[in-house]
Parts: sequence; structure tokens; C-alpha cells
Amino acid sequence: MRPLTQLLLAIFVTLVGSTAIDTNKRASPLAVSLTTSGNTEVKVAITNKGATALNLLSKGTILDESAPVEKVQIFSANTQIAFEGIRMRLLTSNLTQEFFTALAPGETKELTVETASLHTMDKSGVFDVFASGAIPYAEVGSTELIGTLSYASEKLSINVDGALASKVSKAISKRTILSSDCTGTKRTAVLNALSDCSSLAKAAASAAKAGTKITTYFKSSSAASTVAARLNAVAAECSSSSSGATTTHCADTYNGCSSNVLAYTVPSQNFIVYCDVYFSALPLLASSCHAQDQATTTIHENTHAPGVYSPGTQDYAYGFSSSTSLSASQALLNADTYALYANAIHLNC
Ligand SMILES: [Zn+2]
Repeated sequence: MRPLTQLLLAIFVTLVGSTAIDTNKRASPLAVSLTTSGNTEVKVAITNKGATALNLLSKGTILDESAPVEKVQIFSANTQIAFEGIRMRLLTSNLTQEFFTALAPGETKELTVETASLHTMDKSGVFDVFASGAIPYAEVGSTELIGTLSYASEKLSINVDGALASKVSKAISKRTILSSDCTGTKRTAVLNALSDCSSLAKAAASAAKAGTKITTYFKSSSAASTVAARLNAVAAECSSSSSGATTTHCADTYNGCSSNVLAYTVPSQNFIVYCDVYFSALPLLASSCHAQDQATTTIHENTHAPGVYSPGTQDYAYGFSSSTSLSASQALLNADTYALYANAIHLNC
């Protein structure tokens, strides 16, 4: 029995190598197994069960340990959780050996995948993890792709603590790009405001989720999840100054700055400008309830940008008394209401 199996396997591998056809799960020499490794970390072991050495493409595949590409699929109650990373298309000519991983017969390559960095898993419970896909390969000693080998793991069920999972930083997120037209003390001020925008918006999102002060500011308890979602999007956007949905400027490109104008957003361009008054008249953080500051002005502007959360907000009202006089549907789309709410959560107003 054993010699025959090995013989058949050898013939099969030869066929794959020479005809470059896609293989199915049963026939592929690749075996992938998954084991848990912490809350949302999964260890992936890829073994060459075949009789000949493999030269597998690692760039952009499950073997890629640096790019945020899809390595596993996650399901919750049979519903797939969206993949939040990138899908790359390689220029396949002139590949180099550094893009490949060699796997001798019987050899296993292990890597650890942080599933929560590419999937939102912030609800506690059981998640089912699979690794299935295909890896292009070349002949040993070559970098010319001649086929793909498919793989499919068994299901791994993991018990996830959603609160812990939500703290895992995302491999890819929409974040602010700070323009080079913000220099010197303005640049420092914007960076500080972005940092506080992120922390205040995150805290406000958590409070909204819990329903804290929601009816005061948004006039309806049913607003909680939408408010939390928009504020989480703002927190993500403000969390870095080097990439994202919006661009942040200090030069008045659209001539929107004038006396008493703090900042403006061009929603169609997801373009945010901070005017001189923002820097000269506002503290980074207010110490009194419903007062204006740089951090919550940054939250206000970010809610206008549809690239952060769609639809972008309007300016139906400014300030606490006007904003809390709006209807529930208007409050949900009013920029200042989010700024006021973030301030109120921060200062426990
Ligand atoms: Zn506004």
C-alpha cells in the first residue's frame, strides 16, 4: 500500500510540474493546518506533503509575512466577516527569488496570522477560521510562474474576546494625510489635535454604543449605533497623519478662511483646511463644557467628509443650545452635535 501511494504521488507531482494545471484540494501536495495562538492569533502551518521540492510564490500569498493580504477567511454564524486588507496584482515578469519560499518534501513553514488586524471581530463569541486559496509556483531555480497549487485547511473554531479583539490595530485603515503646507507650530498643533481627535472620538463612540447621553445630544436612543459608527470612523481617520481618506491643509487653497472661520472642509474632495483662527483662538482641549477647541473642531470637520463616513454631515446648527434643538434626524447629520458630544463625554458634562 505505502509504495503504491508514494508512486502515485510522485506521478501526480510530475504531472503538476509539467502541465501547470490548477489542482484541487485532494490532489495538492500542500497541507495547511491551523491552531489557535492567543485571542485572535492563529498559527498557520504549511507542509509540503509531496515527494519533490516546491518553489512557492510568497509575495502576496498566504506565505507573505509583511503585506496585509488575505491569509485566512473568518466566519461568524456562517456569515463571512469582511476582509479589510489589500489584494495585490503583481507584475509577473522579472520576479526575483526573494518573492519565493522553498519547501522541501516533508518541510513545514509556520507563520502567525493576527486575524483581527484584517477583520473586525469585536463581538465576543465563536469565530470559524479557514485558510483556503492557491499559491502560484515556479520550478526550483526559476522565477517563472508555471501554475498554482491550491490548499484548504480544516475549520478552526476560536473563542474570541471582542473587547480585546477591538484593540488590535488594523493593518489597513483610512487615515488623515497631513499636507506639507502645514509647517512649524501649525504642523505641531494639527498633529496634537489629530491625536486628541482620535482619542476623544474613540471614547465618544464607546459612550454612544452604551447609550450614554445619547438622547440629550441626538434626541433619540436609536441613534446610538450610527453615532458610534461615525465616531469610530473619525477616530480611525485622525489616528495617523500619513495616509487616509482626507487631506489636511493649512494653506487656504479654496479661499474659505476669513475672520472667525476656524476651518473648512470641501466634502467632494475630502479636503480639510485649518485657518489662522484655529491656531490663534483655540486651545487644544477645552476645560469647560461645550466650549470650542482644536480637537473637537477637528472632529467636526472630519464628520463633514463623506470619505470618512457617508453621508457627510451638514451644518444645521452650531453650539449646544441650537444643536440640541434639532430634530433627531437633523441631529444625526449635524457636525457640531458630534463635536459637542465628544466634548461632553470627555469632560463628563
Ligand atoms: Zn461645519
